[in-house]
Amino acid sequence: MNMRVMTLGLALFLGGPGIGGAQASFVVRNVRVFDGQRVLEGRDVLVTNGTVARIDAAGSAVPDGIAIVNGTGRTLLPGLMDAHVHVSDSTVPDLHQAITLGVTTMFDMFSAGSRFDAMKAIERVDRSDVASVRSAGIGASAPGGHPSQMGGPPFPMVTDSSQSQDFVNARVTEGSDYVKIIYDDLASMGRSLPRLDRGALFGLVAAAHAAGKLAVVHAMSEAQASTAIDAGADGLVHLFNAATVSPEFARLVASHRAFVVPTLTVHHASCGESTGPAVAADTLLMPWVRPAMRSQVLRSFGARPGISCEGTREAVRQLAREGVPILAGTDAPSPGHAYGASLHYELQLLVRSGLTPVQALTAATLAPARAFRLNDRGAIAPGARADLLLVDGDPTVTIADTRRIVTVWKRGVVVDRARYP
Ligand SMILES: [Zn+2]
Repeated sequence: MNMRVMTLGLALFLGGPGIGGAQASFVVRNVRVFDGQRVLEGRDVLVTNGTVARIDAAGSAVPDGIAIVNGTGRTLLPGLMDAHVHVSDSTVPDLHQAITLGVTTMFDMFSAGSRFDAMKAIERVDRSDVASVRSAGIGASAPGGHPSQMGGPPFPMVTDSSQSQDFVNARVTEGSDYVKIIYDDLASMGRSLPRLDRGALFGLVAAAHAAGKLAVVHAMSEAQASTAIDAGADGLVHLFNAATVSPEFARLVASHRAFVVPTLTVHHASCGESTGPAVAADTLLMPWVRPAMRSQVLRSFGARPGISCEGTREAVRQLAREGVPILAGTDAPSPGHAYGASLHYELQLLVRSGLTPVQALTAATLAPARAFRLNDRGAIAPGARADLLLVDGDPTVTIADTRRIVTVWKRGVVVDRARYP
């Protein structure tokens, strides 16, 4: 079976007339709107010059000659965001893949050298055919600590707290959008790498805040994550694999007003429930995954016996109950992951962990925009960037419908999905 040809036909059918070509001004007629928080039935959404201008009851008067997009039976959402990725050296193809799959903004969590420069250059132009990207640049870790074991060129590391402010200042000078701190010895992966000491963790968070930047922390156990929150971290960019979680954890995170990017796809890969095989079989998504990345989707994370996701899902439930902002993130392209595609499966895992579909959609739209202080996006409201995703069906009820992509716009410009990788 030729999946590619089959799905191309399907995509052309779904696309329908009037949706092709770049249009920075248009109206989506009679559509269900998810505005980042709420569901609004039967609306006309007017976009002018790349910005959402108005949301009216269906049947409203629209400017003469403006392009009309049929929204009947469809749902319009803010473009999705992935709050935890690692863009590769193929920066433009990675970001193009993401946007064709509905992800219009990504947050890179560790990049150095030319890759970081490439992302910065893309953002300066704000080109409409690739996802927007923000980056931590080089993350803070101890000498010999994660991710230096993965090879690659050497990068500056933090030996003790006296170096915290200098490290952060250097990242700010380079253009880091936020500060990433790795507080993990990889014990959860059966390793024991050097880890930042507690003083350095606290020093780095304070230094980030002194520089006006968010501090986000990679920690992979409840104890380490709790220490990061105690240190004043603004957000955790992973949860952890565990059979149980103590009720104090969610209360602690809530009391510090921190956010959490659970990266459930990563933890489920570790506990033997990888979403990779489902992504690989998904004819709605895989045709847009670059051939070079396809083998990555079926690669295993090295799940080990005794690793549980029960406590991970319970932590999501408890965090949501405590009102902690949950952000959807995937850690793509970790084994079993693909840019854009995996985010749709993260949303399904968030729902499986007890979030409502609407809460899961907020986790991929308004919540990351607010957490990372991007006030121009993440919502469908007058004045917002027209980074938009139109899907068939109703993902506010059936979360898997986010995969039924009809059209993606960035700043009101249609993304050319007919151009396969
Ligand atoms: Zn990561």
